Amino acid sequence: MNAYKVADATGMVKLDAMENPYGWPEQMKSEWLDLMANVDINRYPDPSASELVKKLRATSDIADKAGVVLGNGSDELIQLILMSLKPGSSVLVPDPTFVMYKQISTSLGLVCEGVPLHKDFSLNLPEMLKAIKDLNPAVIFLAYPNNPTANLFDEADIMQIIEASGGLVVIDEAYQPFAGKTFLQKLSVNHPQLLVMRTVSKLGLAGLRLGYLVGDKTILEQFEKVRLPYNINVFTQITAAFAFDHIDELDKQAELICQQREFLNDELSKLAGLLVYPSNANFILFSLLNETAEHVFNELKKRAILIKLMGSARGLPEQCLRVTVGTKEQNVQFISALKAII
Ligand SMILES: *Cc1c(COP(=O)(O)O)cnc(C)c1O
Repeated sequence: MNAYKVADATGMVKLDAMENPYGWPEQMKSEWLDLMANVDINRYPDPSASELVKKLRATSDIADKAGVVLGNGSDELIQLILMSLKPGSSVLVPDPTFVMYKQISTSLGLVCEGVPLHKDFSLNLPEMLKAIKDLNPAVIFLAYPNNPTANLFDEADIMQIIEASGGLVVIDEAYQPFAGKTFLQKLSVNHPQLLVMRTVSKLGLAGLRLGYLVGDKTILEQFEKVRLPYNINVFTQITAAFAFDHIDELDKQAELICQQREFLNDELSKLAGLLVYPSNANFILFSLLNETAEHVFNELKKRAILIKLMGSARGLPEQCLRVTVGTKEQNVQFISALKAII
């Protein structure tokens, strides 16, 4: 195995990790600092984070009958789900997708099978259905929108996968704030195997580490058996609850990011020598036609701009780069550097 590497971004315009580039208004910051000053740091956190869950249910419109499990980032929820499986279970994902599904599966001795996406990054439904039949996967992960391809899979395709699956289907909605589409309303007694996973990371709270899993209560109770009791620390519980009280500010920032995504998309589309793929997330994938991705990545880095160099993952076009949508100034800086390079 290889460790999940994170590039050093000291002094760089950081457009590599799908972070929200905006901070909080001063007034909001000072209200938050008052809360922080009164934290009982000597006490263990509330193991069920009940205040936070209450706010989360209201903010995200989660039905009372649905269960909620919190994770130290959705990465930890992926780990919880996979730790709950019987040894020898198989896991199914489309390829390419978020690398942690396979990374954590492998570390737990589980086999994670990938079914290549079509060239336009849509799901290969017949192959997915065939893999479900052949492998009977205990869990299927579908990132919606997908990372690194940035697109939403077809809703009807996903419904067919849910119907066909005898195991769990986790819809990973990390980029939901920028996509406006969700499977949350599709949670029902008819589909207890459907789970929806979200995170506050891409919305603007990546430093907190908070993810949440929503679905059938009986199924979610099983994950509680492997969850460490104090996985959500006091600062995260209080800060996330505070942030949900100020969700309008975060929603406003998400809206700005969506506008800037259109700006970036338009600017990239004007350039010769590259292909831009449509995005429903807060990042854009593009591929180079005349140069290597590594060359352009390194030239950008020399100009103190850090984006993500995509390896040659199965199902991904050659010479791909992924850029996170930044502020207007950052995006302009990125585009002018890119123009100079290519
Ligand atoms: C970033 C990302 C995550 C991880 O989110 P954290 O809550 O920060 O752990 C999960 N799924 C997808 C598809 C992502 O891109």
